[in-house]
Amino acid sequence: MDYDLTGKTIIVVGGGGYIGSHVCKAIADNGGLPVTFDNFGSGHTHAVKWGPYETVDLRDKAATLGTFTKHKDAHAVVHLASSIEVGIGEKDPAGFYENNVIGALNLLEAMRALELNNLIFSSTCATYGETNQMPLLESHIQNPFSVYGKTKLAIEQMIQSYHKAYGLSYITLRYFNASGADVSGEIGEEHEPETHLIPIALASASGLRGKMKIFGTDYDTPDGTCIRDYIHVTDIAEAHICGFKSIAKGLTQAEVNIGTGQGVSNLEILQMIERVTGRHVPYDAAPRRDGDLTRLYADPQRAKDLLGFTAQHSSLKNIIQTAWNFHSKQWNL
Ligand code: UDP
Repeated sequence: MDYDLTGKTIIVVGGGGYIGSHVCKAIADNGGLPVTFDNFGSGHTHAVKWGPYETVDLRDKAATLGTFTKHKDAHAVVHLASSIEVGIGEKDPAGFYENNVIGALNLLEAMRALELNNLIFSSTCATYGETNQMPLLESHIQNPFSVYGKTKLAIEQMIQSYHKAYGLSYITLRYFNASGADVSGEIGEEHEPETHLIPIALASASGLRGKMKIFGTDYDTPDGTCIRDYIHVTDIAEAHICGFKSIAKGLTQAEVNIGTGQGVSNLEILQMIERVTGRHVPYDAAPRRDGDLTRLYADPQRAKDLLGFTAQHSSLKNIIQTAWNFHSKQWNL
């Protein structure tokens, strides 16, 4: 709560989504008014609780400009809306490029027309090229493997060009594995279809789906399963508040990892779920999933140096506890 957004409107594009709804809450907690823009294709109106919303699809250039014009006095824009399901991107790159890249171009054009100059963009560690060198630094080469990662990199580069040519101030946040849920249990991860490890494992532990699959148990890691950097969604939301503060202090351009720096294996996730829920997670070992890297975790130092951000809520226990709290309410357990 060290930064006051009182009287400031922040446009949150994708505010009906998992991360977006937590960003809206953090903005409201800091005195600001989050205005959600969403097409509600995958976001939910019931997750918009801290301000008004506008139903708008970024692929519609005229509608996008019209909606931004209604809120042209906004202090800043957060852009989180995108197609994120990696497997779907491989099958439908046209849809991904249209939704993510054309959508972002229309957003940037609306911002330029209205002289809205402050942007926080949600990017991803999936923009980095394959490597075994961990932790990942922001300077690591960006050579994404997936269509999803390629679209996010294209947007990062567009934003850099807008900075150079038109003076846009921006911070690009490269998230690692978003996880957990708000402590209230009111908002959390609700993807359809769900593909992420933690909600799937919680559903299996609850008996709501059969045995889950662990994709790959023969990786070169201590227990043979992949290693990821799980960061609590409340910490990700807080990183945005740190971002507004840094822009207010004069930061005009940054690409920053948002992770904890700690790697956790898939089996360690399952063990923590069993500890927290007291329920067994039934699983079968399955072949490796296409495109999965063995290990992926952030170097979080730049976030600390540039934004004053360090993860505070991301112990594995808290991640699982808050996710379980949300899902057990959602599933009426
Ligand atoms: N994973 C798994 N079973 C599942 C879903 C995910 O074994 O049903 C693994 C996946 O292969 C990866 C890790 O869990 O090693 C994290 O995957 P997730 O999709 O949650 O996030 P990603 O790292 O792909 O963004």
